[in-house]
Amino acid sequence: MELIALPAFNDNYLWLLHDGHDALVVDPGDAAPVQSALDRLGVKLRGILVTHHHGDHTGGVERLRATTGARVHGPARERIPGPFEALRDGDSVTVLGIDWQVLDVPGHTAGHIAYYAPDVDGAPLLFCGDTLFSGGCGRIFEGTPAQMLASLDRLAALPPATRVCCAHEYTLSNLRFAAAVEPDNAALADHTRRCEALRAQGRPTLPSTIAVERAINPFLRSREPAVVRAVQAQAPQARDEVAVFAALREWKNHF
Ligand code: ZN
Ligand code: FE
Repeated sequence: MELIALPAFNDNYLWLLHDGHDALVVDPGDAAPVQSALDRLGVKLRGILVTHHHGDHTGGVERLRATTGARVHGPARERIPGPFEALRDGDSVTVLGIDWQVLDVPGHTAGHIAYYAPDVDGAPLLFCGDTLFSGGCGRIFEGTPAQMLASLDRLAALPPATRVCCAHEYTLSNLRFAAAVEPDNAALADHTRRCEALRAQGRPTLPSTIAVERAINPFLRSREPAVVRAVQAQAPQARDEVAVFAALREWKNHF
């Protein structure tokens, strides 16, 4: 299997996975870069996995379905361009011979789902849309901070080796914020150097891994004493873990 991050718009990645014959794509906000990758690779699109309803994740779905006949899979609780197979937490869907487990991860949107496979060429793989980014998390547009925290907790509990395929290249700006939260985090400084080198070569910083994110991502670390202290220095009224997480998200919104 080859995993490719196709750049789209300013900073989206449309993830394409293929085995030399068949392919799947995740969140095709634009059909054109997917179509040209399919042509270049000589592979047939079999499935489209959608994580949530936003246009930068769904804009190319109808055209790709029309041109390739690929089946579309998406969140049962959201409106995406139909017809599609509606997926709920605990469902699984087989695409490219891989069973993808569906996880409900509300917060960015109310019905956001993620796709997880425990073994793709020997390591787990996660497509998490706009829920988890390297060094950050999605803005909370439709859900609550409590929901987003629970969703991130679920993702953080996946195996450390899980490759994390996020839908945006937000890493360097997220890491600047993370450094303001945890200036003494050595793993964060290391990860930042690695990511700066990748971006300097025009390469994606993704996929990340759950192990890396647990070490460097303040939104997966909001119960760490150093993170709690930094948040409370900004928002002294934030006492319980949800309030701390909400204040951390709010801090990032205005950073
Ligand atoms: Zn979104
Ligand atoms: Fe997005």
